[in-house]
Amino acid sequence: MTAYERSRIILRFADLLEQHTDEIAALETWDNGKPYEQAANTEIPMTVRLFRYYAGWADKIHGLTVPADGPYHVQTLHEPIGVAGQIIPWNFPMLMFSWKVGPALACGNTVVIKTAEQTPLSAVYAAKLFHEAGLPEGVLNVVSGFGPTAGAALASHMEVDKLAFTGSTDTGKIVLELASKSNLKPVTLELGGKSAFIVCEDADVDQAVELSHSAVFFNQGQCCCAGSRTFVHEHVYNEFVEKARARAMNRSVGDPFKVGIEQGPQVDSDQFEKILRCIRSGVESGAILETGGDRFGSNGYYIQPTVFSNVQDDMSIAKEEIFGPVQSILKFKDLDEVIKRANNSRYGLAAGIFTHNLDTANTLSRALKVGTVWINCYDVFDAAVPFGGYKMSGNGREKGIYSLNNYLQVKAVVTALKNPSW
Ligand code: ADP
Repeated sequence: MTAYERSRIILRFADLLEQHTDEIAALETWDNGKPYEQAANTEIPMTVRLFRYYAGWADKIHGLTVPADGPYHVQTLHEPIGVAGQIIPWNFPMLMFSWKVGPALACGNTVVIKTAEQTPLSAVYAAKLFHEAGLPEGVLNVVSGFGPTAGAALASHMEVDKLAFTGSTDTGKIVLELASKSNLKPVTLELGGKSAFIVCEDADVDQAVELSHSAVFFNQGQCCCAGSRTFVHEHVYNEFVEKARARAMNRSVGDPFKVGIEQGPQVDSDQFEKILRCIRSGVESGAILETGGDRFGSNGYYIQPTVFSNVQDDMSIAKEEIFGPVQSILKFKDLDEVIKRANNSRYGLAAGIFTHNLDTANTLSRALKVGTVWINCYDVFDAAVPFGGYKMSGNGREKGIYSLNNYLQVKAVVTALKNPSW
């Protein structure tokens, strides 16, 4: 198929997805429990945008001519890798589908994608729309199944040429090992995080409170880049804690299909129990429970928006990924200290910085060992902007021009010239 045809199919698919936003958003809410409005107004439009972005790339991917020494004509060919195996998690099923499938198809690969066992529905629906858009059979294959069986089969398959994984750091280690033990397929990993959200003394406190709230609580706290360590300068600490507590107490929790609901249930009983265990550990280790701390109501996997203050770096709520609606607030005195403490993590996915001082913003953004820095904003995602982690938050970058490299093989073609003077 020509690159232009690939581009047109992806564009047609994006149009169909847009037309079916209601159905897809409802599937996301049924599967995952996330607020329907969030899926319909934010996630599906972002998914559509991402496919349109990569449709634009399909016919603009090409190699180079290289001015090599000697009587040679040298060019590089950018070829598809082949069969891309992709394993995605349950927190943003459609968005994760797009980050994986968009660049893989734009570059001319075929795909076998395994959805998370908790959230299989939307990708199956999307595959049907791809078929309607004209994608030939066999190009995009969606497998529903469990991790240790279907996921592991994909990671260790000898005829899968590339693996892209998003999920926990522990599972990332497993799939990397399976890939290396089988055919050494290249692996990109987008894993866990414990991102710092740093509120400096000159920050607009009200804005920082609101953004730190959504940085943690968005999607029931089930975000790899959740700003789950809120560092606040001692001069604004008391005011910040008071306002953060009030904002959490105001959060609307309930039926995710209802208008105006900010927080639905956690995805399943495992996550629900794990988060309650983390909250108990926070209380036992001496953090101050400002609000929340228990299940919300008596039915379903709802958890009260929870805020801890007086959190210390060695507490497990400050070190481990909670993946739930739990804010941990830590106090700091100066920049050097907060840089060291923010970087003192095995993760390095993202960070938020709140300041109006240019020097402070520059110093922090250069010093932090993370893949994304948001200054006076948080969770700003754009199809063209790369995303990925330092350290044990993963390797490789997704989105933007960077993701194309994950799905291309570069071939150097060197031709001897008969008449070098021309
Ligand atoms: P979580 O703990 O948040 O569910 P996981 O990393 O376990 O995160 O899951 C992310 C994805 O990885 C899911 O699609 C899951 O099925 C898959 N997965 C889990 N275990 C394995 C495994 N051993 N091999 C391959 N994939 C796995």
